Amino acid sequence: MLDINKVRADFPILNEKVNGKPLVYFDNAATSQKPQVVIDAVANYYATINSNIHRGVHTLSQLATDAYEISRQKIQQHINAKHSHEVLFTNGTTHGINLVANGFAPFVKQGDAILISAMEHHSNIVPWQMLCERVGADLLVIPMNDKGELLMDAFEKLLTEKVKLVAVNHISNSLGTINPIEHIITKAHAVGAAVLIDGAQSAPHLRPDVQALDCDFYTFSGHKVCGPTGSGILYGKEEWLNKMPPYQGGGEMIKEVTFEKTTYADLPHKFEAGTPNIAGGIVLGTAIEYLNSVGLDNIMAYEQELLEYGTKKLLEIEGLKIYGTAQNKTSVISFNVGNIHPYDIGAIVDKMGIAVRTGHHCTQPVMDFFKIPGTVRASFSFYNTKQEIDALVASVLKAQRMLS
Ligand SMILES: *Cc1c(COP(=O)(O)O)cnc(C)c1O
Repeated sequence: MLDINKVRADFPILNEKVNGKPLVYFDNAATSQKPQVVIDAVANYYATINSNIHRGVHTLSQLATDAYEISRQKIQQHINAKHSHEVLFTNGTTHGINLVANGFAPFVKQGDAILISAMEHHSNIVPWQMLCERVGADLLVIPMNDKGELLMDAFEKLLTEKVKLVAVNHISNSLGTINPIEHIITKAHAVGAAVLIDGAQSAPHLRPDVQALDCDFYTFSGHKVCGPTGSGILYGKEEWLNKMPPYQGGGEMIKEVTFEKTTYADLPHKFEAGTPNIAGGIVLGTAIEYLNSVGLDNIMAYEQELLEYGTKKLLEIEGLKIYGTAQNKTSVISFNVGNIHPYDIGAIVDKMGIAVRTGHHCTQPVMDFFKIPGTVRASFSFYNTKQEIDALVASVLKAQRMLS
């Protein structure tokens, strides 16, 4: 069981006031708040071992390198990757997807296809459009129903031998839908397609087991799992990472350089050109340890309670409509109230100290599907409470009174 008072005490920002009111932070799908251990670990890195990695004989450089590589191993264990060199440090999900979309180019030719879904974040759409344009391939889209669930029959029809890669999110950031990725991966492999899972919204709630899933790539952002911004990982199967050309050239990713020819370093360095976000990589390991100390099972169970409570309470508001009503979903509630513009609700609840996101949430095609300009999105984390949800409901009611 999760001790909510103890958890809340770990997050100093929860004591802040916003517009004179206690902060209620419901924008967790955009970025998570940071516990004190993570904040301290950043300062501790700079105060004690700051140094460049993998290149110095001096002691500090070795300490920093060790800390960086230990963090890689922690993440490897967390996601159950077979090898630590299958875990690449990135600056986030967007970086991870772009790395694959670039490295995958030699394996897609004119007339082939990349298959994504109707509920992808822009960062799991645009890199594939760019790849398709570059090689003359088609971008296909798995449709969804109006609950925000992917249509599996349509998926199987789209899945022909032409499809070389399927890229889908594990959990939708604008609807909260948990997609049946196990099924998607099995079916995709049956036609010889590789699978990339955008885990940006799942890593904060679930522990992915990349070997059990058998996905080819899995990527997430550090800043959504209580870690620093500018950190993240891309897991890739060794076989793919060996086959794919590097994404960026530079220092650290080479074995030998002459003006005639360069040979690339072994994994993972081949994909880690230049000085990385060293503190970010190290502290991402700290953040993952923190999540595990609270327990992802406890987190998921508590967040489901908040989801149920929030859904029930918000639906009591007349004219409120929730977008994203899948059977399997996480603690994201996207909604609109009557014809009120989501931005107006966001601005009024902000005056009461409540942070929600308004707009298209980087998923414009999802908004087009529902024929709306955007939604108000409240996304709950394990440090939120039912009292905070009550405050949201009261402030939405107040906004409704003011605006209609
Ligand atoms: C946040 C998010 C991204 C992008 O992550 P960045 O950290 O901005 O790179 C991609 N996909 C989903 C589902 C997301 O929620």
